[in-house]
Amino acid sequence: MKKSLILFTLIVLIGIPAIAQYNYSNEAGLVTYGEAKLYSQAADGRQTGFRFPALPYTYNGLQPVIDSLTVAIHYNRHHRAYFDKFIAAVKGTPLETQPIEQIFANISQQPATIRNNGGGYYNHFLYWENMQVMQGASPTGDLAAAINKKFGSLDALRDQFGNAAKGLFGSGWAWLILNKDKELEVTTTPNQDNPLMDVAAVRGIPLLALDVWEHAYYLNYQNKRADYVDAFWKIINWDEVGRRYVEAMKKN
Ligand code: MN
Repeated sequence: MKKSLILFTLIVLIGIPAIAQYNYSNEAGLVTYGEAKLYSQAADGRQTGFRFPALPYTYNGLQPVIDSLTVAIHYNRHHRAYFDKFIAAVKGTPLETQPIEQIFANISQQPATIRNNGGGYYNHFLYWENMQVMQGASPTGDLAAAINKKFGSLDALRDQFGNAAKGLFGSGWAWLILNKDKELEVTTTPNQDNPLMDVAAVRGIPLLALDVWEHAYYLNYQNKRADYVDAFWKIINWDEVGRRYVEAMKKN
């Protein structure tokens, strides 16, 4: 009884500020997923810089689909390196306090280091957040309805998404996005580009991100990208993807 009271108090103390931060929306009116995790803010709510977001589970949380060593190296070295280089590039410039979506919307005007490292920073954030420890979940609510409407079934989406990821030449990302017609669409981007960038062949709001760089799977799957892509489907955090869908539908 005592233990549960302490636990409850802790949840309230930690939870309320976390929820309060989550409701923050920036001046430009853009909605960025979990922006409280990406941006540090002044007392007046202004974005003062970028943060390296925490991993939403422990290194072994995605096993056996993704092994703990891969998660640890991928997060601490690869993702961290993109973040550090992005921060070094934006420090002291107006970009430092710009919502990252705005930077991506004009990325063609920026040097390659901002494009590659900014993309690497943000894409990995989406990727970690759209996976979860619990296996075998499926989409619900508005997202489930939209998937059935567009693809016919979840299996059909899985096949289309999987084929896109497996067929991408070289390094890059597979995406489920909400396109400008407010329809779901499967797409890919090379390198660390993403569908928010003005250079992307197909633009839209990312809902589901899959990293298909070799560093994301090579330790466990070696050259068998297809096995990694198929296994990824078991650990998708559909609640998070559904939340992104609802937010994206609200945008103009
Ligand atoms: Mn990666």
